[in-house]
Amino acid sequence: MKSEFDDQVIYDLCIIGSGPAGIITALEYSRLDPGKRVLLIEYGIKEQPVENDLDNSIQNTNPINHHDPYECTNKGLGGSSATWGGRCVMYDEVDFIDRPALSGGCTWDSALFDETKKYIPAAAAYFECGDPVFNLNDMPEFSETKIADNFREGVVTDSVVERWSMPTRFGTRYEKELAERENLTLLMGYEARDFSEPDESGNVSLLKVRNISTKNISEVSAKKFVLSAGTQETTRILLRNLQLFNSLQEVPPALGKYYQGHLSGKIASVVFKGEPKNIDYGFLRNADGSYMRRRFQFTSKYLVDNNLLNTAIWLDNPLYFDPVHKSGAMSFMYLAMITPILGKKLAPPAIAHSITKGEVKGVGKHILNIIKDFPGSLITPASIFYKRYCLKRKLPGVFLYSPKNNYALHFHSEQIPFEGNRMELGADGEKLIIHYELTDTDINSVIKLHDTLDKWLRECNCGELQYWFKEDELFDAIKKISKDGIHQSGTTRIADSSKEGVVDRDLRLWGTKNVFVCSSSVFPTSGQANPTFYLGVFAVRLANHLNKI
Ligand SMILES: Cc1cc2nc3c(=O)[nH]c(=O)nc-3n(C[C@H](O)[C@H](O)[C@H](O)COP(=O)(O)OP(=O)(O)OC[C@H]3O[C@@H](n4cnc5c(N)ncnc54)[C@H](O)[C@@H]3O)c2cc1C
Repeated sequence: MKSEFDDQVIYDLCIIGSGPAGIITALEYSRLDPGKRVLLIEYGIKEQPVENDLDNSIQNTNPINHHDPYECTNKGLGGSSATWGGRCVMYDEVDFIDRPALSGGCTWDSALFDETKKYIPAAAAYFECGDPVFNLNDMPEFSETKIADNFREGVVTDSVVERWSMPTRFGTRYEKELAERENLTLLMGYEARDFSEPDESGNVSLLKVRNISTKNISEVSAKKFVLSAGTQETTRILLRNLQLFNSLQEVPPALGKYYQGHLSGKIASVVFKGEPKNIDYGFLRNADGSYMRRRFQFTSKYLVDNNLLNTAIWLDNPLYFDPVHKSGAMSFMYLAMITPILGKKLAPPAIAHSITKGEVKGVGKHILNIIKDFPGSLITPASIFYKRYCLKRKLPGVFLYSPKNNYALHFHSEQIPFEGNRMELGADGEKLIIHYELTDTDINSVIKLHDTLDKWLRECNCGELQYWFKEDELFDAIKKISKDGIHQSGTTRIADSSKEGVVDRDLRLWGTKNVFVCSSSVFPTSGQANPTFYLGVFAVRLANHLNKI
C-alpha cells in the first residue's frame, strides 16, 4: 500500500471514507483485480483530535431524540466502527414490501433483497460474526429450542437472532491487510470536497480534496468514484455538489430527505409463567465461539396485514439507574458508568446513555444493593469485565438472569420514511442541519406491537406484559425516551428513477455513469435491523459490480 497519492495517476477506483463500507469495498475490489489501482481517501488521521470541522458544522435540531454529532460517528481509519457495538442484524423480507404506512417510501423490492443474499457469506467473513445464519430454525443444534416454556411461533416469532462481530474495529483489524495490497493507496487527513461536472456521457473525472491541516487543495483523477463517507457526510457532499445532477431535469427530490433511524427503548416488562431456569435470556454461541441472541419479531404477513412497522423486542435488564431492581451487580455497574473518567472508558457516550439515561439517581440505595448482594455484586461484574474487555471475541453485552421470571423488554423499531426528517445545508453552504422527529405512526406501531406480543404470550400460556406506564402515557413516554442518530439511513435512497430516489439498484448516482454511493443512506426503509451488516453485504456486491463494468 502507498500512503501518498500521485496526482499524475488516473486511479481505477477512488473510494471516499474508510468506515466498514469503504474498507470492505476497497479490500474486495482490490482483491478481485490486483491490476486495478485503488485510492482510499479518509478525512481522519491516526491521532484523531477530539474535535473536527465536520462534526463542528452539524446542527442537530432535536437533541431529545437525536444524539449530538460526536456521539453519532467517528473519523479515522475504520470510521464509526471504532465505537460501534458490533451487532450484526439482517434485514427482513417485510422491509422490501410496501405498506400503506410507508406512503410509497419503500422504493426497493424483494427481487433486490433476493439478489443481495449471495453476498452475505463474504460480508459475514469481513464482520467476523460467525456462520451467516440468522434463524435458529435453520441451525439443527437450536431448532428445537424456544425462548420460554409454552412459547410457540405464530404471529410472534422467537427464532430470528442477531449476531455479533468481535466487535470488529475495521481500522485496527484491516490496517495490515490494506497495507499489504500493492494496488491500494490510503490517503489520510484529506476531505473530499468537489467533483467535476459529469461529461456528456455522464462520466465524472476529477475530485478536489482538501488537506485538513494545510487546507491545500489537490485534484484526484479516477475512472470511478464510491462515496462511502457515512450517511451524514455522504449526504452533505452530494448536497454541496449539485452539478452532479446537471444532466437531469432536476436534482433528485429525495436527496437529503426520508432520514430514518430507529425507535429504541423500554416501556414494559415480561413476566413468564414457566420454569425460570428455562428462559433463554442470554447469549447463544456457535461452535466457532461467535455470539447470537434471540429476539421476538413479528411475521411479515402480520405486519403487512396490520400496516405495522418492523420491530424487534428483546429481553433486557431492568433500568440500571433505578435501585428498585435490587441487583447488587447492576448497581455496581451503574455506579461505574456514572463515574466521570471510568464511565467514558467503559462505553461510548451513546451506549452509556442507553444504560444510565444520563441520570445520577439513588446512589445510597445502589450502595445498599451492593452490600446486600456481596460478594456476588462484585464477582459478577468482575467476570463480565474479563469477558467483555480482556478476550479477543468480547462478550457483546450484559444480560442478567431473573429468578423472578421478570425481564424488561427492549424495543427496536422501524421508522417511516417521512419527508420532514431530512438533512439540508445551512445558508453558508457548509453546515449540515439535521431535522429528526418521531412520527405518530412510528410511535403507535410500537405500542400496538407490544399489545400483540402481550396477547400472543397469554394465548400460548407463556407469560404476559407488565407496562411501566399507564395506557394514555405510553405515547409520550416513547417520545421522551427514544434516541437515535447512530443508525442513519434513507437520505440517498435506492429507486428505479431519479424522481423517487438518488441512486439506482447498482448504487450508481442518478445523473452520472461512474459515481456510486455505498452507505446505509441508500436504504429506503430502516426495518428493525441495525444497518451496518447489510451495508457490508452491499459493499461486497458493489465491489463485484464495479469489477465487471
Ligand atoms: C456508538 C455506536 C454504536 C453502534 N453500534 C452499531 C451496531 O451494534 N450495529 C450496527 O449495525 N451499527 C452500529 N452503529 C452504526 C455503525 O457504526 C455505522 O452504521 C457504520 O459505521 C457505517 O459505516 P460507514 O462505512 O457507512 O460510515 P462510517 O463508519 O461513519 O465511516 C465513514 C468514514 O468516512 C470519513 N469521511 C467523512 N466525510 C469525509 C470526507 N468528506 N472525505 C473523506 N472522508 C470522509 C469519516 O471520517 C469516516 O471514517 C453504531 C454507531 C455508533 C456511533
